[in-house]
Amino acid sequence: YAQAKKAKSPASQTVASPLSAADIEKKIDELLAKMSLEEKVGQMTQISIEILLKTENGKVVEPHQLDLDKLSECIRTHKVGSILNIGGDAQTVANWQGVIQTIQKMALESPNKIPVLYGIDAIHGNNYTASSVLFPQQIAQAASFNPQMVKKAAEITAYETRASFTPWTFSPVLDLGRNPIWPRIWETFGEDPYLVGELGKAMVKGFQGENLVTDKFHVAACLKHYMGYSMPLSGHDRTPAWIPERELREYFLPQFAEAVNAGAKTVMVNSGEINGVPVHANKHILTDILKGELNFKGFAVSDWQDIEYLYQRHHVAKDNKEAVMIAINAGIDMSMVPTDYTFCDALIELAKEGKVSMSRIDDAVRRVLRVKFEVDLFNNPAGNAKDYLAFNSAEHSKVNYDVAAECVALLKNNNNILPLSSSSKILVTGPAAKSMRALNGGWSRNWQGLNSDETEADKNTILESMQKTFGAANVDYSEGASFTSATNIQETVAKAANADVIVLCIGENSYTETPGNIGDISISKSQVELAKALAATGKPIVFVLTEGRPRVLSEIEPLSAAVVHAFLLGNEGGNVIADVLAGKINPSGKLPYTYPRSVNSLHNYYHKTTETLPFDEWAGYNPQWEFGFGLSYTTFKYANLKVSNNQIGENGKITVSVEVSNTGKVAGKETVLLFAKDLVASITPEAKRLRGFEKIALQPGETKTVSFELGRDKLSFINNELKRVTEPGEFMIQIGDQKTTISVLEGTTSNN
Ligand code: BGC
Repeated sequence: YAQAKKAKSPASQTVASPLSAADIEKKIDELLAKMSLEEKVGQMTQISIEILLKTENGKVVEPHQLDLDKLSECIRTHKVGSILNIGGDAQTVANWQGVIQTIQKMALESPNKIPVLYGIDAIHGNNYTASSVLFPQQIAQAASFNPQMVKKAAEITAYETRASFTPWTFSPVLDLGRNPIWPRIWETFGEDPYLVGELGKAMVKGFQGENLVTDKFHVAACLKHYMGYSMPLSGHDRTPAWIPERELREYFLPQFAEAVNAGAKTVMVNSGEINGVPVHANKHILTDILKGELNFKGFAVSDWQDIEYLYQRHHVAKDNKEAVMIAINAGIDMSMVPTDYTFCDALIELAKEGKVSMSRIDDAVRRVLRVKFEVDLFNNPAGNAKDYLAFNSAEHSKVNYDVAAECVALLKNNNNILPLSSSSKILVTGPAAKSMRALNGGWSRNWQGLNSDETEADKNTILESMQKTFGAANVDYSEGASFTSATNIQETVAKAANADVIVLCIGENSYTETPGNIGDISISKSQVELAKALAATGKPIVFVLTEGRPRVLSEIEPLSAAVVHAFLLGNEGGNVIADVLAGKINPSGKLPYTYPRSVNSLHNYYHKTTETLPFDEWAGYNPQWEFGFGLSYTTFKYANLKVSNNQIGENGKITVSVEVSNTGKVAGKETVLLFAKDLVASITPEAKRLRGFEKIALQPGETKTVSFELGRDKLSFINNELKRVTEPGEFMIQIGDQKTTISVLEGTTSNN
């Protein structure tokens, strides 16, 4: 461990690639001049490891045992340049290292000695490697409103991914979590583009290091799913969306722009269609905007089989060959998982027929090779196990606990029932109480996190942590209900008679992608039944919500005395929840999405115009809890909102400051949110928009002044001519309960 710490010290950490950007381009020129068409097409191909594994009677022997004939067909015959892992259960770090070494050995025997770029969905930690640290999922991290924490988690994830000799993760997700029915909300940073952009940047920097990926402890990031993936009309995954270009540019593009500016190396493309055009076929979005306007120099990888889907699902191509032509000409640089090697054959033919130009192919290959040089793969194609002794260290778990501690949002606390007294008699119940799977969600050891209850046996469930924290004699348990059916409600109600308080752990079980599609956003019936039966006992109930999207609680929320939204907290979730309930952690998370009150009223906090229709409360904006809401065990008072100038002129900037005091009895952390509202604009203005945030820590009695810089650019929006403008006029600025109005004068804004 000491050795690992030494290896991580700043001096030895930056084993900078000796190559400058210009050197890299020169190397690529040399390679391109030598490469055959087949080799070039191979660099644009990414195959799943599943088809390279040894099988007996059609079944995979061991998920880490490669079939060398299949590998040879992949690398020698088809000259494939990238492999990804998927399916199967997590492997040990040593097994992964062996897999990558075998692959790279064969790749480096090729005429031009080009290493394979191995990619993995390291989503909340290096989840496909056994016993890696599993952090809170992105939606939980968003609730922390803490970019430093997000960055730290990404740094450790990068380190543990590199420990598996893998230099590329398909993360972060920069989609907007705006439609709670959509089953991938928990993979996002929530509903606000500014929050997503700030945390996305932090995550990219954590993964890649501050500069280029030139050391052996960072990985290339992949921004996904570019763009407009998260707003399917039906709410179901990978179904059509209608998003006008103005809205695409206003709400979906900025966070990708931020992360591209932060140096993100790769981008994964949205599987869906927008306005009738599959994004994999959309040259405007992929080439004009991404590579043109955003000046993105990395490569765009398709999502899973999405080039084939252009003819199989979207019907914009008549066959595979036409699909390949459309996608590559639109700007896709790498095809993720063509089911076999027909992608290579088709692209070779298309190039020979001139239907895909050699310059397009060279551009794609240049982008792929650039990333391979930037992650230093040519010098360091695999790695050295000795460099990664801090894998799954106590220090990494401690950071995991600290991150998770900032992700819990306290949504209700009637009569300050929380924190619970240490001598309370507690009944812990509900389907999430004894489940690591419910704490971790999907992408946990396998795609859907199905057997996390077994794989995380050494970690604490909520129940185990409650027993440790409050004493086994004080904590009773009864399941009551599973996520889908009542199990032993009578018995649970009987046990409640002996308790002072009931901790009811409810929410959702893990799922990933399409299998998470639902027809009803309400919390499941069995959980409602359990909550109602327990409420009839008259004992106070604390809800602990382990869920990555807001399941509507309308029937049972009034039955709760307190609500703790734990999201999907990861492997330290049990410990953190028990410590929140015991008051060892003062909750400081805030909602990164709007929690709806009713199934027919799914608004975001931007909601327009409904505030002028107070008579129409049902259809109007009346959420259960607002975006940005979260209580604490202390109280904060906001005062003295000041602006350095109440006018913003040509290219101007002002400073907005506010005093925040801890007026309660315990130390706490508060996220200070700055919202602005354009009072009159040529496009109907949103009710308010987040334009700045900062998380501060305050001791009881302490006051801090928090300042934000507010320039014209921060008050801009995309107008009907698709131009970014700041229109002169009045803006309302709001921080906490403090409000003021400022004027923006005529003038230009530097980024208009
Ligand atoms: C998902 C991506 C993921 C990819 C590779 C796709 O189904 O949409 O988010 O990175 O699979 O596993």
